[in-house]
Amino acid sequence: MSTLQPVRGTHDLLPDEMRAFRHVVETGRTTASRYGFDEMATPIFEFSGVFARTLGDTSDIVTKEMYTFADRKGESITLRPEGTAGVARAFISNGLGNDLPFKVFYSGPMFRYERPQKGRQRQFHQIGVELIGVPDPQADVEVIALGRHILDSLGLKGNVTLEINTLGDTESREAYRGALVNYLSGHLGLLSTDSRERLDRNPLRILDSKDEGDRAVIANAPLLGEYLNPASRAFYDDLKNGLMDLGLDFVENPRLVRGLDYYGHTAFEFTTDALGAQGTVMAGGRYDGLIKTMGGGATPGVGWAAGVERLSMLLAAPPATTRPVAMIPAGADPMIKREAMILTERLRRAGFAVDLGFSGNMGKRMKRANKVSARVAVIFGEDERLARAVTLRDLDSGEQTTVALDRMEETVRTMLAGASEVAIGGI
Ligand code: ATP
Ligand code: MG
Repeated sequence: MSTLQPVRGTHDLLPDEMRAFRHVVETGRTTASRYGFDEMATPIFEFSGVFARTLGDTSDIVTKEMYTFADRKGESITLRPEGTAGVARAFISNGLGNDLPFKVFYSGPMFRYERPQKGRQRQFHQIGVELIGVPDPQADVEVIALGRHILDSLGLKGNVTLEINTLGDTESREAYRGALVNYLSGHLGLLSTDSRERLDRNPLRILDSKDEGDRAVIANAPLLGEYLNPASRAFYDDLKNGLMDLGLDFVENPRLVRGLDYYGHTAFEFTTDALGAQGTVMAGGRYDGLIKTMGGGATPGVGWAAGVERLSMLLAAPPATTRPVAMIPAGADPMIKREAMILTERLRRAGFAVDLGFSGNMGKRMKRANKVSARVAVIFGEDERLARAVTLRDLDSGEQTTVALDRMEETVRTMLAGASEVAIGGI
């Protein structure tokens, strides 16, 4: 195992990829802020109990995916596998329960020990939102609308489908649990070992299994929807009506469950066919029990998280970048190089993005100006140095003009005024 290789399941974000990646995060951040969600961040690691207690001790994450280690004092620490538990912990430890609703956006790396494949890594990134303190399904509608808005802004309108389901309240789930266990017990021999183990502790989790044998059994299992009490049914109807009011298309998927234990009522996913097996790009639901389970007061919540890598892969076109100005020192005199550096800094202080090539003749520097999609080249050679001037070339039209040094910034500004943005680099 070479230490020069990245660790399995981790990935360098080189500039082209980072550009798409950042576009996803920034679109999430600005759209969330339009919906009244402020950004926050929690630590990347927490005491293991924050996750182990809340995600459910039969969830995939807790049983096999957590990066857990003892720190130097022997404290059990876990790299966060998801964002909601940390936000809920922060909500409780900062005593934020008096000022509700609490609406936040977050982004950052998550860690899960999974089998790496396309769209599935051990260090990946999420953006997510939480809306804490509102029991009304209108909150669910708001977070789903925000999710859809972000996906639309990323140009994914036609590629991503919203699937929804209800997990009902505790009473409905209890009623269903009996029927489900009864059914599954009749097919024990066909279930995977994992699922057989879950049968007693958390049979609903079996519905989320990816095992093919399990899936065949699940296909004929009774549906939770048939066991909803009137309150749960009303909640679900309100959700659907709210989505329809906003013109948000959805597909009901009665087999959709979330992999974590803390969800009830609303469960939803935005899915795509374009990423093979890893088709879920954004997933969320309502977690009214979570904060109480963690030791806070009973406080409802609803939210989602989206995989930034999966969304980046879906972007059709790389996002536009600002076209820089290229500084082209021309000539052998060392003073040219020094003064060009000073002019470069002057332009940057004036607000322009300036690319300064460090070496090469005029031809090589022009090539570089092309590569970075520069719009304007500032040529500073022997003639210009003596005349205290610069030559400014419009790299699209080829027109050029020589202006006194003290008019450099204003002329560049005028030339750029008509410039458009252009996409550079592939994803
Ligand atoms: P999956 O069923 O694909 O394992 P999950 O239910 O474990 O997903 P969530 O915990 O709901 O996923 O996480 C929300 C989103 O984060 C997912 O929809 C996906 O876009 C992304 N995601 C989850 N795990 C990974 C991973 N290992 N690598 C990349 N993205 C991931
Ligand atoms: Mg998973």
